[in-house]
Amino acid sequence: MSSMRIVESSQEMVRACRQAAHPLGLVPTMGALHQGHLDLVRRARRENDTVAVSIFVNPAQFGAGEDLSKYPRDLDRDLDLLQRENTDLVFVPGPEDVYPPGFDTWVDMGSLADKLEGAHRPGHFRGVATVVTKLFNLARPERAYFGQKDGQQTVVVRRFVRDLAMGLEVVVVPTVREPDGLALSSRNVYLTPEQRRAAPVIYRAIRRAEESWRAGERDAATLRQQIRQVLEAEPLVEGIDYVSAADGESLEELEGAGPGTMLSTAVLLGQVRLIDNVILE
Ligand code: AMP
Repeated sequence: MSSMRIVESSQEMVRACRQAAHPLGLVPTMGALHQGHLDLVRRARRENDTVAVSIFVNPAQFGAGEDLSKYPRDLDRDLDLLQRENTDLVFVPGPEDVYPPGFDTWVDMGSLADKLEGAHRPGHFRGVATVVTKLFNLARPERAYFGQKDGQQTVVVRRFVRDLAMGLEVVVVPTVREPDGLALSSRNVYLTPEQRRAAPVIYRAIRRAEESWRAGERDAATLRQQIRQVLEAEPLVEGIDYVSAADGESLEELEGAGPGTMLSTAVLLGQVRLIDNVILE
């Protein structure tokens, strides 16, 4: 097994990526790695000469009162998992490296950032867009890998990469799920056993609408209503932030669903906020 290099400063990351064999594939993560992350790494491994993974819990994408301080962290385990996937470079910067004193430049997304997740997490996508841009500038990857699980994030990243001519390929990898359908997420560890048993309702609700789309239902309001009905039947679902049937690029809510429509939802199981989505084919 070849040796994996761990890089802790931006300067060193720039140097390491300049010297590395290209194409280079970058996988941005916040750590607490699971099989969903590892699928991105494997895909990057197949498609590139160098695979770089970043692990950075980005304070700028957490709102006040969100789970920044208790976000799960296990660097030793993460490094072990990445080593097994033949990762070449792991970038583990501290917050003061990414946001040194005087840091004052932000990537300000337009209307895409105000919808869905953005409507409930003000500033979230500004934080995401800024840190991902910075990672791209440090690593200069030919390809970057993102999970469909964070559906709006893939749309936002594709948009700023195109709008700002970043000249790299954004690769979106299908959502990895537990056998019962629950999308893998670092936040699943917060669930109590009862909540964990109830959590597959999220994917089941979206699938219900997807199936009625397959059976010919084209009315987006009906699809949204079907998702909501399944969610509301689960007592442990204590809140529904949104249920959406939106255009897969503009994220505008639709009247009629079609191929490329993104069905998505964000729900609260107790304090735990989980998201999921499906793109209609
Ligand atoms: P995070 O560490 O949560 O920021 O996630 C890092 C990357 O892994 C993002 O591109 C996520 O969309 C992706 N990811 C997270 N969970 C999954 C999953 N269950 N399946 C596929 N990709 C995922």
